[in-house]
Amino acid sequence: MDTKKLIGIEDNYFINTFTRQPVVLDHGEGVKVWDKDGNEYLDMFAGIAVNTLGHNHPKLVKAIKDQAEKLIHISSIYYNEPALIYAKKLIDLTEFDRIFYANSGAEANEGAIKLAIKYTGKSEVISAVNSFHGRTIMALAATGHEEYHEAFKAILPTGFKQVPFDDIEALKNEINENTAAIIIEPIQGEGGVNIASREYFVEVEKLCRDNGIVLIVDEVQTGFGRCGTLFAHELYGIKPDIMTMAKGIGGGVPMGGILATEEISSAFVPGDHGTTFGGGPLVCAAADAVLNTIIKENILDNVNEVGQYFINELNKLKENHDIIKDVRGRGLMIGVELTESGAKYVDELREKGFLINCTAGNVLRFVPPLIINKKEINKFIKALDETL
Ligand SMILES: *Cc1c(COP(=O)(O)O)cnc(C)c1O
Repeated sequence: MDTKKLIGIEDNYFINTFTRQPVVLDHGEGVKVWDKDGNEYLDMFAGIAVNTLGHNHPKLVKAIKDQAEKLIHISSIYYNEPALIYAKKLIDLTEFDRIFYANSGAEANEGAIKLAIKYTGKSEVISAVNSFHGRTIMALAATGHEEYHEAFKAILPTGFKQVPFDDIEALKNEINENTAAIIIEPIQGEGGVNIASREYFVEVEKLCRDNGIVLIVDEVQTGFGRCGTLFAHELYGIKPDIMTMAKGIGGGVPMGGILATEEISSAFVPGDHGTTFGGGPLVCAAADAVLNTIIKENILDNVNEVGQYFINELNKLKENHDIIKDVRGRGLMIGVELTESGAKYVDELREKGFLINCTAGNVLRFVPPLIINKKEINKFIKALDETL
């Protein structure tokens, strides 16, 4: 079916929730993708920071193929080897003790908040203005965007408050004896690639310790090497009680998870939480291939080297383009804040063969596959320069 006809199906058959870019993507290889009409694109978006290893990565594809031939799903009622092997491997690499497998970022955050509420027996959760934690009702209540709350106010759970990001006094003023948890992104993604200071996170951690508050870091977007360390909270030297993850974990298969300390994990007993699909053999085999590849192929070194190069090149563009207000990022999670809306630049760059995204209205967000190289960055910088 041709592209126009295919896109027409959405207009008549989909519930209207997304403003989509008018391309039907068909296949990919590394950092490149092609649409149905054969047009080639450099993928600077990676499915919203999901395709860690790019497209059609041989190790990831083989892991999925091999596992699909053995077992795809068996439910959480039985053990499966990939889930067990992966849990041990991931936890041995972190300061956490236990895992719960989920299927998405929102679901991971829901579970993390339930765990913190049950552990503390308290009723309030604080998050940040401009944060993003997901679209399910409780994750939505934690999300710091009033405009997403508006239509659902009548059914949003109580007990959720937002304070300005990177403002320790605002946080101190909101905590009280009912505060169960603080949930925070190490770097705000959807909010516009906003980076808080190291001092802020150190203070947040101390505030939580001193007041018996559970510190939840939402690493759904920042995790799995995106920011140059396996997890972004490592950049601040803090030890959260709970970490949530999703996007990059499985290199493209839908998966999420919660990591927590032994102490906090002990609050849950069978019946408190669950999932049909979570921790299935197929997604765990994929996640295992992603993690092995990140480590064996020194992907973090590439993220740091290419990420710094990319930021330097963007800063050079800033000198020549008044429209660039700010360049910021860590690793390969980079935002270019413009003095005007970024939507038209997204369209122009797509027409030139580059997939990018604009978030928070005026922030061009680049979250390419972690395997991108300097040559590909150069190609993109040239196109961005011409477009701006
Ligand atoms: C994308 C995102 C979520 C939601 O993840 P879904 O898989 O879409 O539910 C939650 N938190 C952060 C930080 C995210 O970037």
